Amino acid sequence: MNVSEHIEAVYTEVRRRNPGEAEFHQAAAEVLESLTPALERHPEYIETGIVERLVEPERQLIFRVPWVDDRGAVRVNRGFRVEFSSALGPYKGGLRFHPSVNLGIVKFLGFEQIFKNALTGMAIGGGKGGADFDPKGRSDGEVMRFCQSFMTELYRHLGEHTDVPAGDIGVGGREIGYLFGQYKRITNRYESGVLTGKPVGWGGSHARTEATGYGAVYFTQEMLATRGEDFDGRRVVVSGSGNVALYAVEKVHALGGRVVACSDSSGYLVDEDGIDLELLKDLKEVRRARISDYVEAKPAARFSARGRVFDIPCDIALPCATQNELGRDDAVALVKNGVRAVAEGANMPCTPEAVAVFREAGVLFGPGKAANAGGVATSALEMQQNASRDTWSFEQTESRLAEVMRDVHTQCRTTAEAYGGNSDDYVLGANAAGFLRVADAMAAQGVI
Ligand code: NDP
Repeated sequence: MNVSEHIEAVYTEVRRRNPGEAEFHQAAAEVLESLTPALERHPEYIETGIVERLVEPERQLIFRVPWVDDRGAVRVNRGFRVEFSSALGPYKGGLRFHPSVNLGIVKFLGFEQIFKNALTGMAIGGGKGGADFDPKGRSDGEVMRFCQSFMTELYRHLGEHTDVPAGDIGVGGREIGYLFGQYKRITNRYESGVLTGKPVGWGGSHARTEATGYGAVYFTQEMLATRGEDFDGRRVVVSGSGNVALYAVEKVHALGGRVVACSDSSGYLVDEDGIDLELLKDLKEVRRARISDYVEAKPAARFSARGRVFDIPCDIALPCATQNELGRDDAVALVKNGVRAVAEGANMPCTPEAVAVFREAGVLFGPGKAANAGGVATSALEMQQNASRDTWSFEQTESRLAEVMRDVHTQCRTTAEAYGGNSDDYVLGANAAGFLRVADAMAAQGVI
């Protein structure tokens, strides 16, 4: 069997063994398609079944999460944790609370996480979890009771050396607080490093809240620099208005760019003066309101419940909301309007058809596992601070983050050049560089 046949056979088995998990199939295909040159140079990885083992999670947990709402009614949700790979360190990856969460989505996210975490150069394996719980419209008390019930099952699988969750969609500082409190109560241990994304006052790291958005902008800055360009004076569109999006906007503005549009699941907002970040943060972080409320405070801006945020002309697009939010038609519109660079702040926001359009047009394209690696990298810095009972300053932490993003960017380019001959191929570079680090560790650790 040659390398292509081997990869095809692995992919066929992924589809057979995981029926109906479309997002996981998509994420697996995207990585597997990049591995031919690496496997041709390392036939030992085929002999030791590295790829077959990598696509099968080490452990998958599915559990019932019962809780009582404010009216006294019993509710039942489904919780997940997929512990994908511990080759490089404890399982590490966020928790997502969103009604769309199912096993296939958690697996796609966990699979991506393996390679992303490897790219950071840090000692963290890959995992992901969550629940089909919708925090929107729930009171603080309801969110607390849900988090406590979720952790009452999950705690037995966690530990600072075993599995370390963090936030993701629907899970921010408030949820991490409730989850940590319940873990501490059940275990009778103040184990700071068991969760990351904690508020700064009790074990959290400075710059963790900002890290994913800032990191995506740093990565884009590095990509632009390869063509002698930067953010200064550029029009930027950011999708989403959650944790990643807000801090991407903040860093773009700090670098002289102007974010003219952003979105949430109800529609999108255009503000030609540049998004007023203080107003948006107040709406989203404090009031947990809808993006349409922005226009009440700033009538010159425009909200649209219909249409596509990526139709707004821009030089740089940063999709920061959710998977498969940017399809072929969006990509065609962006290219037609002269987009120079696209970087994925979210996980897999661009469909394969959209990525093909960008590549054909020569648009710089930063895949999520490289572009949004700053969040998990800073989580690993939080674990370091917890282990040494130390607190670093914002400046110190942000400068480490910037250094990691520069290094991830360099790894992508040098690996793409070495394995495909085109250093602009960040998809190949990220997948192959992440894979090689994990494969090396797996080969050394034997067939487990
Ligand atoms: P948040 O919950 O803070 O924000 C998510 C944003 O995306 C909200 O504006 C939300 O709108 C929008 N959104 C979510 N689902 C949909 C949907 N189905 N359709 C349209 N809009 C949607 O999450 P984060 O900012 O933390 O995460 C965003 C992305 O970044 C995810 O893909 C996540 O996996 C990825 N990521 C996050 C990291 C982190 O550190 N937080 C690290 C690396 C990647 P609404 O409020 O209306 O639902």
